[in-house]
Amino acid sequence: MGRTVEETEVLIAGAGPTGLLLALWLTRLGVRVRTVDPKPGPTTETRAIAVQARTLEFYDQLGLGEDALARGRHAAGLSLWARGHARAGVDLRGAGARLTPHPDIFILTQDQNEALLLAHLTALGGAVEWQTALTDLTQDAGGVTATLERAGKTEVVRAAYLAGCDGAGSTVRHGLGVPLSGGTYPQRFYVADVSASGPLSEDRVNVSLDDDQFLAFFPMPGKHHWRVVGQVPAGVGEAITFGTVRPQIDSQRIAQVTAVHWFSSYRVHHRVADQFQVGRTFLLGDAAHVHSPVGGQGMNTGLGDAANLAWKLAQALGGRPAALATYGPERRPFAASLVNTTDRIFGGVVDPSPLARAVRTRVIPAALGVLTRPAAVRRLAFLRLSQLLIHYPHSPLSVGRAGRVRGGDRLPWVLAERGSNFDALQSLRWQMHVYGTPSPELLAWCAARELPLHAFAFGTAAGRAGLLQDAPYLVRPDGHVGLTTPRFKPREADAYASRWLPA
Ligand SMILES: Cc1cc2nc3c(=O)[nH]c(=O)nc-3n(C[C@H](O)[C@H](O)[C@H](O)COP(=O)(O)OP(=O)(O)OC[C@H]3O[C@@H](n4cnc5c(N)ncnc54)[C@H](O)[C@@H]3O)c2cc1C
Repeated sequence: MGRTVEETEVLIAGAGPTGLLLALWLTRLGVRVRTVDPKPGPTTETRAIAVQARTLEFYDQLGLGEDALARGRHAAGLSLWARGHARAGVDLRGAGARLTPHPDIFILTQDQNEALLLAHLTALGGAVEWQTALTDLTQDAGGVTATLERAGKTEVVRAAYLAGCDGAGSTVRHGLGVPLSGGTYPQRFYVADVSASGPLSEDRVNVSLDDDQFLAFFPMPGKHHWRVVGQVPAGVGEAITFGTVRPQIDSQRIAQVTAVHWFSSYRVHHRVADQFQVGRTFLLGDAAHVHSPVGGQGMNTGLGDAANLAWKLAQALGGRPAALATYGPERRPFAASLVNTTDRIFGGVVDPSPLARAVRTRVIPAALGVLTRPAAVRRLAFLRLSQLLIHYPHSPLSVGRAGRVRGGDRLPWVLAERGSNFDALQSLRWQMHVYGTPSPELLAWCAARELPLHAFAFGTAAGRAGLLQDAPYLVRPDGHVGLTTPRFKPREADAYASRWLPA
């Protein structure tokens, strides 16, 4: 058994979507990374399917947005069915117009996301060490010592930091002794990728609500290609196949399944890790939070964790570690609220009581048809789902307010004369934004720190987005506002920079 000690800056356990995005972001920042995963290669199962607008914005920052769009497809909205009849339709096309460059529901399955991320990681010279598992870890003030196993051989790696992106059963989380608190629903669910025809609305998510079940068809890339999610009928054994649930799907009369490409059943958990950081080790993605797939948030939340942590790790390795301690306080509250929200919605979807059945089959279809007609309601629904509202108001990194924009908010998207203000975020660096005219004092302050300053014309779009004319917005590498004040205050900016900006 060989025992060598290898050194790296960041060791990433797990090359699912979360670990791959973290590896890609860190590699772009010039960090030395090792990424290990016991699987033989990226997942071939479709699993998560929706990529939210906020994730596409992160992809744009890394230069893979266009590639992502070319690989997936948009969905136009939602069709609601009850007892085989079309009951309501919600058109969500362009629901996020003026809020984001990605105003539509976008479908790019998990295997496609992983292939995309891996292709871009490889193009940068990065790699994943497949068939390699992290089996043990210890840490001290100077770093983390991890044991890796590959084909019966053991290797010891010393890393400055360890990122546990190793999924719901996380070895890293167990190694840290951090509980994943919460529970598991008693019901079982199934998921299948199928070819199907019938009255389904081809370009929409079709949801069928019935007395004792729910069924959803998601349009997938390719013609007549659907993802079906449903509840396993009570009373069937543990070993089930598509044949077990087929009568249930047929009884809804909204689709005829002509071929089954993949089938799996699972139980849904609603759990959050008690801590997201212990010493030099971090938990991200499913290793830190698991919840129902309602709303397509799971994979996206893991990708958001990676975007939040990557630049903080790079900065720590450059000698300024303070921001690392904000990772947990910024990401855990969102994960906890997401688990609660999806818990409530999911509870209603599967509740067998007569009242809940009536709400599902009568009240919701009627209300949805009426309520979602106003553009403002569609926009609100889009904002909730798209993760554009994720903000960090209680983080010590979030300071001040100018206009309607506060420290910790995602920088609002504003179309510029050429491109948009988000183009500047592709540098993955801290930067100053001004919508209007920067003061000479601000220009000098940024120049002295070699901090890029981007001045955009203050127009209707900036005003509508809540930005204040001429105010300085110090923007973090992940596109969230750090410090902002209506007028530049050098002493406050100095204090902020000496604590949070790269050394
Ligand atoms: C059947 C199914 C359907 C789903 N449908 C949806 C959906 O519709 N919408 C949605 O949002 N989410 C869905 N999810 C959840 C979604 O797949 C996860 O939220 C997402 O995969 C989380 O990504 P991750 O990278 O954090 O973890 P994972 O994708 O679980 O990746 C973890 C990786 O860590 C590796 N690993 C494990 N142990 C070790 C170790 N000891 N050392 C190193 N590496 C290790 C694993 O091999 C794996 O590659 C579904 C999940 C399943 C199983």
